[in-house]
Amino acid sequence: MTFHPLKLFLAVSSLACFIAFQTQASPSQKQDLKNKNNLSQNTQPVEKVLVISHVCSDSLVIRAQKLSSTQASQTCAMLTEKEKLFHETFQQKDNPVKHDFNSKLRVNIYASRDDYAKFATQHFNISTDNGGMYLEGLPHLPDNQAEFITYFRGDIIWNLSHEYIHYLDGRFNIYGDFCAALHDSHEPPENCAKPAPLLPHTVWWSEGMAEYLAKGNTHPRAFDAIEKSENNFSLSQIFDTSYEKNGGTERVYYWGYFATRYMLEEQRDKTEQMLVFLRTGDFPRYQALLRSWGDSLDKPFAAWLKQQLKEYSALKSNQAVNTSK
Ligand SMILES: [Zn+2]
Repeated sequence: MTFHPLKLFLAVSSLACFIAFQTQASPSQKQDLKNKNNLSQNTQPVEKVLVISHVCSDSLVIRAQKLSSTQASQTCAMLTEKEKLFHETFQQKDNPVKHDFNSKLRVNIYASRDDYAKFATQHFNISTDNGGMYLEGLPHLPDNQAEFITYFRGDIIWNLSHEYIHYLDGRFNIYGDFCAALHDSHEPPENCAKPAPLLPHTVWWSEGMAEYLAKGNTHPRAFDAIEKSENNFSLSQIFDTSYEKNGGTERVYYWGYFATRYMLEEQRDKTEQMLVFLRTGDFPRYQALLRSWGDSLDKPFAAWLKQQLKEYSALKSNQAVNTSK
């Protein structure tokens, strides 16, 4: 749950730059240019770039390159609201998972996408072809600092709620660090060992639930994506979602959104049973539990999803009628 490659829209532009670079430079030229870039970028430590500091609460601090006092208070209010919703949903406020010292999240905000691309690799050892990243670190170490790294996109701080939910999920729902959970990401900075564990993984839950609590019942992008989707995943297939294999934005975030929403709204007892294993880090029993469900939830999930899409479609038609009046 630590590393969240939100390669949504921004990956396209950075990929275009990368391809242009590749076609114009030889390997040695590329290395020279890389060294030069690193030299010019390595001159400013994170404290000199993210100069604004703001304490939201006991569990949240902000470091930013730019942030007005209005933006700071709005951001704190919004995240505090999400935290409240998270604890109302899971009722674990006073019970973080064992051996978790991540009592506080630090949100690091660069002024723009360009600043993020320029500094974040140097400051946090992360790739920047994404929309921000949450680094859980090693939560069992008392001096560990959980970090969320993001940037302003216009006036909006990108992916803020989604990532804050990851932090809370990691502290209250899933035992251990990112590499302990079930997925197939081996990228820096964690460099989790290969091979990946067997399926099912926990990606559908961590990404889908972050989308669900961040967006609530109103998530037009997810509805539109599923309406147009050529895939028709069953719930048991969604449980097998991961980052590299069985991944992609649609499956990870949008199908994940509906799967977690269904489990939380319609299968709460089963979800609680599952969370007992996730909270204690008993991943073999988590996998055995999901396998024991087999395809028994596939039909009820499909029927529920059909109903959600029908209601969404009716809502859209009503809105269209109202706006044309
Ligand atoms: Zn995420």
